Parts: sequence; C-alpha cells; structure tokens
Amino acid sequence: MTTRVTSSDTEAQQTHGPAHYRTAGHGHQVLVPTRCPSGLHQLSATGYRIYETDRTLHVTCQSCVTDDRPNHTWTFTTDGRQAESAEFNNTPYAHLLTDTPLA
Ligand SMILES: [Zn+2]
Repeated sequence: MTTRVTSSDTEAQQTHGPAHYRTAGHGHQVLVPTRCPSGLHQLSATGYRIYETDRTLHVTCQSCVTDDRPNHTWTFTTDGRQAESAEFNNTPYAHLLTDTPLA
C-alpha cells in the first residue's frame, strides 16, 4: 500500500476510495471496516475515532496512532454526504482488506 497519511495536521489528498453508505430509517449510515489500515487491530476492540472533514471520512486507529505507525487512518471520499451514524461492515471494503495481513 502506498497511501500515506502524514499527520493529522495535513489533509490527505490520497484516499482509500469512496465511503459506502446504507440508508437507515433515520438517515444515512456510513459503513466502515472493522480492521485498521495496517491490519494489526480490530478497531472496535482497540479504539478508533471517526470524523469527517470537507469531503473525506477519516477512521483513525488509536493503537496505530499511539505506536506512531504511518498508516493509521482510513480515508474515504464522501462526496459531501453526511452520515448520522456509523456501522462496522467489511463487505464493501473487502478489496482493501485483502491487501493487508491479518494480525
Ligand atoms: Zn491499528
């Protein structure tokens, strides 16, 4: 993987691709992978932060940030869509997850 997020101060120009959504009763729900980009952690177990900037959704692995790993954050393009909530779902991101080894 060559995608790199340099720091939280710098807006990443490269992304992992489009964010995937599903429509829930109360609005859009964004789907996020259960594993972090490094493949080392289960986000729900080790801690994560989800936030949106202009047109990008970021999912940061807190363990990788603590360990100072370069690929600690998923970045997905949102095209301006705003999610009301997030749900872990690997299905739309399977092509990203096969590139990284399971811990
Ligand atoms: Zn991680």
